[in-house]
Amino acid sequence: MPEHKFLKKQPKRLAVVDQAACTGCAGSPACVIFCETVMVKNQVVDAIRVVEAPQNPFELAVVEYDKCIGCALCAKVCPWDAITMYSHDEALEIAPSVTIIPHRPALAS
Ligand code: SF4
Ligand code: SF4
Repeated sequence: MPEHKFLKKQPKRLAVVDQAACTGCAGSPACVIFCETVMVKNQVVDAIRVVEAPQNPFELAVVEYDKCIGCALCAKVCPWDAITMYSHDEALEIAPSVTIIPHRPALAS
């Protein structure tokens, strides 16, 4: 796991996107918009992004685990219930199995 960009210790929980359930919000990803409102010491956390998904009409969301602080905002706003919060270790174990289109350093270990 790379060093966390915003926290001295790794967060207790992390968000996991089930990309099979993610629709990309038809090009206006709510999770990305809300994560961009999360700040740590005046810095925007910006821990979730969308990545090109050739088999899907829209890009799919993926979490960058060196930035996610586990605030759960994205999970609350996802209209497709595609985001679940897990404990730190569980999230890193589960994420690869529900990530169709990975994005580095999202799954870096
Ligand atoms: S994870 Fe949810 S909120 Fe984010 S793009 Fe996918 S469907 Fe939309
Ligand atoms: S849990 Fe918070 S910091 Fe992590 S991806 Fe979701 S909104 Fe961003």
